[in-house]
Amino acid sequence: MQKLQLTLAIIKPHAVKNPVALSFIRNVIKNKFVVVKTKRVSLDKEAAGKFYNEHVGKFFYNRLVTFMTSGSVDLHIIGHVDAISLWRRLLGPTSVYKGQFQEPYCLRGMFGISDTRNVAHGSDFSFYNWHNTDEVLYRKGPIIFNDHLFEHVRKL
Ligand code: ADP
Ligand code: MG
Repeated sequence: MQKLQLTLAIIKPHAVKNPVALSFIRNVIKNKFVVVKTKRVSLDKEAAGKFYNEHVGKFFYNRLVTFMTSGSVDLHIIGHVDAISLWRRLLGPTSVYKGQFQEPYCLRGMFGISDTRNVAHGSDFSFYNWHNTDEVLYRKGPIIFNDHLFEHVRKL
């Protein structure tokens, strides 16, 4: 069995506020990945600014940080053998307009409303320290989906 890779998905504020978008996105996540951790948080300017540190100085940095602090975001740690690139493929291009044109059924193409408000974040790398014990638990199971937590948990 191949090991699971983890990635971070962040559902951005406009999508968290849109029940149709949110339930569609959550179904995609739940059906394609194991959901290891879910947390709804409100980022402050400092946290959002640090998270997007690599974009300091770009023309969209201020509007991005302002947007990401405009409402709650949903953080999901999700696992799949090819999690990083699968999640990015499901999202589609960073540019919503490009997505709408090239891949109309990608999440950004369907639910994005501008180049900043592009539905969700996908990481380029696996940041999470995934201990051997956790990985094997999710890979070999048995696990069940807990709707209330919106996480896969060990079946006792
Ligand atoms: P991605 O989220 O696909 O990894 P980037 O890391 O390049 O894309 O950019 C981070 C975020 O900054 C994007 O998801 C988007 O919200 C915003 N952003 C990127 N490029 C632009 C742009 N040209 N105009 C407005 N916002 C942008
Ligand atoms: Mg990026």
